[in-house]
Amino acid sequence: MISRIDLRGSLDDPRDLLPRADFDVAAALEKVRPIAEDVHHRGVAALIEITERFDGVRLESTRVPAEQLAQALEGLDPKVRAALEESIRRARLVHADQRREEHTTQVVPGGTVTQRWVPVDRVGLYVPGGLAVYPSSVVMNVVPAQEAGVRGIAVTSPPQKAFGGRVHPTILAACALLGVTEVYAVGGAQAVAMFALGTEECEPVNMVTGPGNIYVAAAKRYFAGRIGIDSEAGPTEIAVLADDSADPVDVAADLISQAEHGPTSGSVLVTDSVALADAVEAELKAQVARTRHSERVAEALGGRQSGIILVDDLEQGLAVVNAYAAEHLEIQTRDPHAVAARVRNAGAIFLGRFTPVSLGDYAAGSNHVLPTGGCACHSSGLSVQTFLRGVQVVEYDREALAGIAAHVVNLANAEDLPGHGDAIKARFEWSVPGA
Ligand code: NAD
Repeated sequence: MISRIDLRGSLDDPRDLLPRADFDVAAALEKVRPIAEDVHHRGVAALIEITERFDGVRLESTRVPAEQLAQALEGLDPKVRAALEESIRRARLVHADQRREEHTTQVVPGGTVTQRWVPVDRVGLYVPGGLAVYPSSVVMNVVPAQEAGVRGIAVTSPPQKAFGGRVHPTILAACALLGVTEVYAVGGAQAVAMFALGTEECEPVNMVTGPGNIYVAAAKRYFAGRIGIDSEAGPTEIAVLADDSADPVDVAADLISQAEHGPTSGSVLVTDSVALADAVEAELKAQVARTRHSERVAEALGGRQSGIILVDDLEQGLAVVNAYAAEHLEIQTRDPHAVAARVRNAGAIFLGRFTPVSLGDYAAGSNHVLPTGGCACHSSGLSVQTFLRGVQVVEYDREALAGIAAHVVNLANAEDLPGHGDAIKARFEWSVPGA
């Protein structure tokens, strides 16, 4: 069911040998371009037609009416409500601690640089809803934006044929719990286009964040620059770095938990223990047979993006997980702290037996919108920082400027930009000693 990659004794660069999903965002751009152009030219009419084509739903309006949000909250199962409230509470604790304070550096007497952090004015948050629906992604998108101080927050999610063409009620209820009132029933690339370009029903936004399928990722890439985007969060993935102390039942359950997202999800075990690899494989067979979404789990585990990687020791295991740069990395070893301290590339790290990735998916307080496909080597998951821009406020008085004037003029001359130097000289009656 799951393939095995034996890297023991190998001195090759592990990057070329790792299981990876086919997630060709560049190719999907071709499909996204006509969607973007259509939304650009025809606005809501285009969104309604595209939604009918891809979601099988005929919308009357793209905007979800306020009473639907209220109804969804009223009809929310109390157990789910309590769980969402606790998830929100924990996420707020963590994200509030990520806020940045304004800081002033006195460079010289009379010369200061102040670093201000200013929230983005208006954001569009994408909550996926194709194969599975993700009320948890409402929490993970909205809480950091709110804690950053973003004033304009709009959420969009695909309309569901199975729910009378409405956005899934639990997603609507999660929005209502968070106080979000601007919600749209649009999914896929067309949703990103709606946010980026604006329509008759939706003001354009400055930034779009949130995970989604390949069309969502491609649309974010298509509009990047016109709008800000977070990292491309594609099909989810888990890597487990484990030694023979790990429990194969837990490891198998965790690999399945992420495979459950869809057939393109990646589940990877990296271990120096053949006994553990054998036991996990046996457990996978048993657990997949009885899991609810066994078909898509089996497809994900059997796909080229999943595998069990055998290594000589944890040293080589660390090289492999650093090369893989997993969205989620579990460390199930005797000394997880020491191992984790040496991990450089991962979206989020989960330490020890009692910290499964599922906890982070819902209610650890951490964010679950994380970089996938190896992007963790250059990008971070969603946080308050995602929604903040750093603005430097610079102030020098006469004495402070006089103290650096000659250096500025000389550097400007070295760049053959004497006008820059003149802007300094003009403040000192055109005479700067040493320039
Ligand atoms: P989605 O909401 O991303 O996409 C559904 C939309 O895709 C539909 O509304 C439809 O309009 C559009 N679409 C479908 N077929 C199309 C086609 N042929 N051409 C153009 N558009 C089309 O939901 P999904 O598909 O279930 O994908 C969600 C993804 O998000 C999964 O891969 C999941 O693993 C991932 N995810 C990632 C994270 C993370 O943090 N990395 C978190 C949650 C989910």
